[in-house]
Amino acid sequence: MEKQTSPNYQKPKVLKYLCKTCSKCILICPSEAINYENDNKAFIDTKLCTACGTCKHICPEYAIRSM
Ligand code: SF4
Ligand code: SF4
Repeated sequence: MEKQTSPNYQKPKVLKYLCKTCSKCILICPSEAINYENDNKAFIDTKLCTACGTCKHICPEYAIRSM
């Protein structure tokens, strides 16, 4: 079952070409929804993401966006 989502944010996505594999988003996500894929770029599991928006603000490359 999906977790309840915040009404203020959409679930974000990672723009992989901007990701520099710094791990900041992975470490800060309270839902452990972010991991690296085989290409060592961050990927958000939408089943775990609660749309809290935290990762969008921590990424120094502005690679995480709601679209
Ligand atoms: S914080 Fe941004 S640059 Fe760092 S791993 Fe996450 S998406 Fe990539
Ligand atoms: S929006 Fe929140 S729950 Fe979703 S991936 Fe980002 S930090 Fe994790």
